[in-house]
Amino acid sequence: MNLSGNLSRESIIRFLEGRGSDSELFEAARGTLLKSAGSGVFLRGIIELSNSCRKNCFYCGLRRDNKTFSRYTIPFDEVICVFESGYAKGLRSFLLQSGELLVDEHIDHVERLLRWISTNLEGVSMVLSMGELPIGILERLKKAGAHRYLLRIEASTQELYEMFHPGDGLHEYDDRLRSLQTIRASGWQTGTGVLIGLPGQTAENLADDLLFMKEMDIDMCGMGPYLEHEQTPLWNRRSELGQWEEREILTLRMISLLRILLPTINIAATTALQTLDPEGLEKGLMAGANVVMPNLTPIKYRKDYNLYQGKVHVEDTLDEVLKILENRCGEIGRDVKLGSPGDPLHFTNRMKEQAGGWTE
Ligand code: SAM
Ligand code: SF4
Repeated sequence: MNLSGNLSRESIIRFLEGRGSDSELFEAARGTLLKSAGSGVFLRGIIELSNSCRKNCFYCGLRRDNKTFSRYTIPFDEVICVFESGYAKGLRSFLLQSGELLVDEHIDHVERLLRWISTNLEGVSMVLSMGELPIGILERLKKAGAHRYLLRIEASTQELYEMFHPGDGLHEYDDRLRSLQTIRASGWQTGTGVLIGLPGQTAENLADDLLFMKEMDIDMCGMGPYLEHEQTPLWNRRSELGQWEEREILTLRMISLLRILLPTINIAATTALQTLDPEGLEKGLMAGANVVMPNLTPIKYRKDYNLYQGKVHVEDTLDEVLKILENRCGEIGRDVKLGSPGDPLHFTNRMKEQAGGWTE
């Protein structure tokens, strides 16, 4: 099937509603990926640095008002150990993720970690995902050595965004959007994403999410299924949710459509997708994803980074995890690219274009 980056909103909706052929869609997306970015699978080691958060998103288990678990921040030396062992095994990109915290202590901690990496480990690309930060803090962290920022818009339709966030002045749609635009405009490799399968979300909403990402001209995407958590307000709407199979197929269609719309970006096969289905990794990659994020958070903290119920907890050593990933990717004809930071080609091309007349 010949599907191009100019897919209309109507065709996108048709695919999302299952009125097109999924197998042809996935094949077209895979073809686009192989032609434009190749068969490589890039790894980002994710470190869930802190589960404290000042926010109260209705869907997230880490929300401020959930008092049923203990809050932690991984100390400096423990994070350094993770960096060192990951680097020794060939990882060249790490993602530091946390709740949104603007306190100096947290920002200083992240800045120190970034400086340590810049000074001690060569050729590493650092990704941050810590919520909405003021521009001054973003600049500080960029100077300290971070290159990429991931801030999901969560739902690009304002009405839907407002349905899933409290109207307390801390969760404004316009602030989220402005924050993402600031990141994009200030030289970061920019990632965003959305929650898929939220109660009340329509195919039209999801089509608009995809067109939003195309319009923003993002470099990376991490989007995955919404999964429920008992200690959140959204738990009360669980009877409105689609079955896991429905949320999975929607996620795969979203990955494929985005791959066709933006051929050279990095797209992750997320942990949430792998939570829905033990074969979610393979299915995500076959639908057009090219990034996998092995969890490097020390085991003792993992149970307290519980965004949703049933989150996959693998307790294998890093050696075992990498071996398993290489085998699983190899079985579907894909090769894990150790030793490479895996910068999105989309960003590299964007920079060349800015430097002088290059076109993709
Ligand atoms: N606090 C930062 C933020 O919100 O941007 C980064 C960390 S937050 C835990 C990372 C992502 O987790 C969010 O962008 C959200 O999409 C996702 N998430 C939270 N709760 C979820 C749930 N119940 N199901 C699936 N994903 C969820
Ligand atoms: Fe905090 Fe992020 Fe969870 Fe919202 S999604 S409650 S900002 S950790």
